[in-house]
Amino acid sequence: AAKNAGKNQVALFTPELREARLERTRLTTDLRRARERGELTLVYQPVVDLASGDIRKVEALLRWNPAGRRPVPPDVFIPVAEESGLIVPIGRWVLEQACADVRHWHERHGVSVTVNVSGRQLREEDFGDVVLDVLARYGLPARALVLEVTESMLLATTPAETARIVGTLTRLREHGVRIALDDFGTGYSSLSYLRTLPVDILKIDKSFTPVSGNADHDRMHAFTRAIVELSAVLGLTTIAEGVESPEQAALLQQMGCPQAQGYLFSPPVGAPQIDGLLHSIPWRQAA
Ligand code: C2E
Ligand code: MG
Ligand code: MG
Ligand code: MG
Repeated sequence: AAKNAGKNQVALFTPELREARLERTRLTTDLRRARERGELTLVYQPVVDLASGDIRKVEALLRWNPAGRRPVPPDVFIPVAEESGLIVPIGRWVLEQACADVRHWHERHGVSVTVNVSGRQLREEDFGDVVLDVLARYGLPARALVLEVTESMLLATTPAETARIVGTLTRLREHGVRIALDDFGTGYSSLSYLRTLPVDILKIDKSFTPVSGNADHDRMHAFTRAIVELSAVLGLTTIAEGVESPEQAALLQQMGCPQAQGYLFSPPVGAPQIDGLLHSIPWRQAA
């Protein structure tokens, strides 16, 4: 190791990197205790049918509010949880909580919950069993659950691991669990993943959500339209992420995109607020 220490080793001792590593260690230690301290919560963001305004799904999004500190955003703590392996027990808790919460939303309103899963979870041998077990314990039809996976999840996997993940997802799908490909368009080889992975739903990343006023917007619209059409041809349901304005919603609907989520409809909110939204959908009354 000493022979190859060279440049890389030197970089490890810059103050910035040392500080960053210390912060990661601190985060990992705190995250390890977060669940038992009740610092983890789930919020839910509605996924809306653009034609009717109905809420079809809610996406479960994890929040961490450490005692005595500012909330840590998911983009910071999820990678820490993945590297430390903590995402496995935390992910199980997310699945459990999401299934508990969706039960009466599904019974009364036909709403499904979408849960983000990381590659680390999918690589666990018993992931499929864990999912089916949670569904059974809550008496939840598989239709009520959507698992969101990303293209990047497969980046570091060996062909054998990829095959096993595909096998797990295929088995869950045969039970009726649906699979969504999240952040579509941001990966390196989106199309090949679309061919590899068993998928029911395609979520267009918010960077493809059309913005009017963008100098390059005709070109962007062409990309977005092409993704929507590809998705339809493959028989997938398309969801556009990050929809913030009525103009965007109208454009997406014109393009044939059936569903969307974003601040235009609702930010992620607590379970009681989802109850309220399902009881009376504000954007539908406004129309
Ligand atoms: P994601 O799954 O792509 O989730 C969508 C993100 O976009 C969420 O960020 C959401 O709050 C945000 N968003 C929603 N509407 C809008 C909008 O109109 N405009 C903009 N600019 N943003 C919008 P959030 O909650 O910070 O989550 C970030 C990422 O963290 C998620 O991206 C997901 O990859 C990951 N994540 C969150 N919860 C979990 C979890 O339970 N497990 C795993 N493995 N990952 C999670
Ligand atoms: Mg997601
Ligand atoms: Mg996404
Ligand atoms: Mg994302």
